Amino acid sequence: MTFQALALIDPLLRTLNTLGYKQPTPVQKQAIPAVLAGRDVMAAAQTGTGKTAGFALPILQRLTMDGVTAPQCTRALVLVPTRELAEQVYESFRSYGGNLPLRSAVAYGGIDIAPQIAKLRKGLDVLVATPGRLIDLYDQGAINFELLQTLVLDEADRMLDLGFERDLDILLAALPKQRQTLLFSATFSDQIRKLAGGMLKDPVSIQVAAANTATKTVKQWLITTDKRRKPELFLHLLNKLGWAQALVFVKTRKGVDALVKTLHEHGVTADAIHGDKTQPARLRALERFKRKEVRLLVATDVAARGLDIEALPQVVNFDLPTVAEDYIHRIGRTGRAGMEGEAISLVCADEVDVLKAIETLTRQPIPRYVEPGFEADHRVPETSSGTSAAPARKGPAPNAAKRPSGAAPVAKAPAADKAAARPAGGSESLGVWTPPEKVAKPANRERERAPAAKPRGRGLGGATGGTPKGAIVVTGGRGAKSQARSDGRAAAKPGARKSKPGAR
Ligand code: AMP
Repeated sequence: MTFQALALIDPLLRTLNTLGYKQPTPVQKQAIPAVLAGRDVMAAAQTGTGKTAGFALPILQRLTMDGVTAPQCTRALVLVPTRELAEQVYESFRSYGGNLPLRSAVAYGGIDIAPQIAKLRKGLDVLVATPGRLIDLYDQGAINFELLQTLVLDEADRMLDLGFERDLDILLAALPKQRQTLLFSATFSDQIRKLAGGMLKDPVSIQVAAANTATKTVKQWLITTDKRRKPELFLHLLNKLGWAQALVFVKTRKGVDALVKTLHEHGVTADAIHGDKTQPARLRALERFKRKEVRLLVATDVAARGLDIEALPQVVNFDLPTVAEDYIHRIGRTGRAGMEGEAISLVCADEVDVLKAIETLTRQPIPRYVEPGFEADHRVPETSSGTSAAPARKGPAPNAAKRPSGAAPVAKAPAADKAAARPAGGSESLGVWTPPEKVAKPANRERERAPAAKPRGRGLGGATGGTPKGAIVVTGGRGAKSQARSDGRAAAKPGARKSKPGAR
């Protein structure tokens, strides 16, 4: 199928041609006609599936064909959970709409609100925003939703994970009831279904990958070790496997900084992205990584979505995430657009619960390996899902795999010859653990945001509230105040800010 067959207008087709998009991805095939027809959509689509173009292209087309904006209004609103995703989605709209006479803008916290207010003054066709900053803008009377015709909730599951439920309630109450609503989510929990049930009318359901199933094109492995040995093991793997570039996830901001310091001490170029970094510093780090000026980008889960990096073959989970769903988002940074990628996790004993949760969520065990010299003193217990299908393996020789106690018989090692052939691998490398040949080209994306349990002391009309339901701490180790700060929102005491009368 071609994009022409989806009845896209010429300026969009020309842009797609310039971008080299030859044919629509599965989510685009389904979403574009539905959105053009004005239908609501509920889509289970992971990052890397082309979902952004799936909603951006038809929205741009509808906005072009129908109506004009007015001062302080926006005709389409895309809500995203993090600043990085906001930038990325905005860039997509700008790129796809390059040949169209439409105005778009992006608004998120952590940067000056004045230019965002100035952009809104003239009126917009598309606004991409994070919920917190959008409420700030609304509180200040800078935006008017009268002309809003389409609302997109992108990465809705993440939005709830990050504690935006209350903000969403506030915003949804302020939007016109007559509108088109598109909800995209990588995973579909009961909570998301409830949210969808309350905001979608007779939606077209789209599912391009089994919900809660990790990207099929990503080869996943884990190596068990002790927590304290992780930095050493990481350096060992880096040298042995010769990763050209990798996105590395660490649980805490402190942990990110510590790993980057260790890497620098060993002469490895690495940058950090986490919630304590300013937005310009994060964007700079990302740009340097994209230009291949640094070998490793080390990030907290703030980076788990929203990053779109060409040809990223390697994700390393230095720590497993706190929340199982984040594993899917992390590994979704590689294996994009149908390319192969690889995700390796270093797992220690106290991560076994989240490992079990990940294997349950993805409905697949992650094959386990033991690297000689890095065996765990604190054994990582077998997970029931992992035991039968993913026995631990151990080098040096491909057939020298070692069964962990209680493990099922060892399965045939995958492509051991390829590991030996790897430039940095060496014959005694990870033994049976043999990464597939690197197939270049996935893209990647990431985004971050400060998690969770922050006080939501305001809202439209001066609403006050406590900790949002469903709030979770992703990066750990920080309180609500610093989290709020890293989102660029005031760490307001409940009720500290009053909305102006009439802001509603
Ligand atoms: P997304 O899932 O929206 O983050 O998109 C993932 C990546 O796929 C981005 O780098 C897009 O530029 C790219 N992409 C989206 N649609 C297509 C397409 N039809 N053909 C080729 N690449 C695409």
